[in-house]
Amino acid sequence: MPPRLGFAGLGVMGGPMAGHLLRHYRALTVWNRTASKADELHQSGAKIAGSLEELGKASDIVFICVNRSEDVREVVDSLIQGASPNTLFVDHSTIAPADAVLLGSDLEQSGFRFVDAPVTGGSMGAQAGQLTLFCGGPEEDVAEAIEAMVPYTKRAERMGPCGSGQMAKMANQIAVGGALLGLCESLSFAKKAGLNLAQIRNLIGGGAGGSWAFEHYGPKILNEDWAPGFSITNQRKDFGYCMDAARSLDAAVPGTELLDELLKPLEDEGHGEWSTAALYVHLLRQRA
Ligand code: NAP
Repeated sequence: MPPRLGFAGLGVMGGPMAGHLLRHYRALTVWNRTASKADELHQSGAKIAGSLEELGKASDIVFICVNRSEDVREVVDSLIQGASPNTLFVDHSTIAPADAVLLGSDLEQSGFRFVDAPVTGGSMGAQAGQLTLFCGGPEEDVAEAIEAMVPYTKRAERMGPCGSGQMAKMANQIAVGGALLGLCESLSFAKKAGLNLAQIRNLIGGGAGGSWAFEHYGPKILNEDWAPGFSITNQRKDFGYCMDAARSLDAAVPGTELLDELLKPLEDEGHGEWSTAALYVHLLRQRA
């Protein structure tokens, strides 16, 4: 019998991921706190669980894609009210590595299994079913999760025990932040120099200064389109987890600290839901 699959959290990322599972396996039970977000999947054939307890009861593997550490804990606490022993919980949310370790060990003690599997690839990757997944957990559980996640996977690899998926995601966010600053600083400088931004984006983006950020966020900056993508609030959440993890490792992350400081004013002004590419706006109004 194939495992019964469940999905909790049908937001920007979770919605399309659940859609890929449903199209591939033709059977999926879903739950979302705001019930209307499950309507489209329901119309495509997904079963709707009336509660997380019901979702836990209906599933052998439950994928979770919510927001912060405390959200994942809250969701899991309800899921286990209905779940059978040995149920595998796979968390795609980006949370603090230390919280993933704790959750994994609490679940193991209660007879459940846990894999942290944060993703990268953004909303476009989720829609295309082309996500990279950093997995942490026991080898057999990770292998089972990787097999089930094929419908939305570009690459999925085990990084080590529980929590190491989130540590890898932190390393990813540090690199993403550096590329974002490179793009926004370069284009805001070019703007003040009176250069043609489209030309600059093409020339620099195709050379040694190019990056995923140049390719995907460059056009957003040219169009002054601040719809996420990846929001400033989510980016700062991840940077907070990065800086906590860095302190625990005695690792220096000066670039991440600077980026967090530069994004803060935009969030304070009420633009937390803007794309991180809006860092360009903040840099443009800064003076030397
Ligand atoms: P989102 O669109 O805001 O969706 C969040 C989902 O979590 C919604 O379904 C929301 O339910 C649910 N949720 C939040 N707190 C909850 C709680 N306490 N109990 C039950 N449900 C709860 O966020 P997203 O962009 O999909 O991101 C999800 C996760 O993936 C985050 O950890 C994010 O950092 C990570 N991520 C995002 C991206 C990206 O580009 N967006 C890329 C990589 C990783 P409601 O519908 O009721 O609000």
